[in-house]
Amino acid sequence: MYMITEQKALEEILGQMEGDCVVYILGCGTCPAVCQTGGKPEVLDMVERLTQAGKEVSGWMVAPTACDESTGQALKWNAELVQKADCVLVMACGYGVQTVVRHTEKPVYPALNTMFLGKEGAEGEFVELCLQCGACLLGLTAGICPITACAKSLVNGPCGGYRDGKCEVHPQRDCAWCQIFERLEKLGQRGKLQSIPVLKDYSKFCHPRHKVLI
Ligand code: SF4
Ligand code: SF4
Repeated sequence: MYMITEQKALEEILGQMEGDCVVYILGCGTCPAVCQTGGKPEVLDMVERLTQAGKEVSGWMVAPTACDESTGQALKWNAELVQKADCVLVMACGYGVQTVVRHTEKPVYPALNTMFLGKEGAEGEFVELCLQCGACLLGLTAGICPITACAKSLVNGPCGGYRDGKCEVHPQRDCAWCQIFERLEKLGQRGKLQSIPVLKDYSKFCHPRHKVLI
């Protein structure tokens, strides 16, 4: 499972930096490397593109896992080059960016958009299977998540728009609720449809969420 990211357009990245001229770049060797958005090749490409855009790159690194606290130590080891920079550009997910923020006084800017937690599907493809809603319904929905699989996140589908088993929002995809019905039927668990709450309790979905181990 990976945090799926995409690169921002260079114009947006430059816009965030405003008048900052000297940049330190930090990539991530875990999810962004797999997504080809912030691994070593992408960091080197960013060095070139920023240089062509008139910025000076004081240094760069690819942290093993940018969201890990070890990134703080890595920044200390590179303190001299970071110190020379006006800002730090982080080619990692929102967790990675905010980890860097906790370890430097410099302005920190994201080079990536964080999209979703995804599982590898076919080669080069990632799919979203869980939105961490905090109140899992899979036991009632034949193991198919209505929050991610249904385009409208309905817990009482199908909606009136499905046609021939296909979703009205994404006609090339099967309707999640048709799949749930079919699988419940096969499992002999159709009665579970009566137990699915008509309204989902989203109180556990309120942000920020946290958990303390006791
Ligand atoms: S219902 Fe879906 S989004 Fe909620 S926890 Fe279960 S799999 Fe995740
Ligand atoms: S057609 Fe099915 S999957 Fe698509 S939005 Fe309606 S209920 Fe959800």
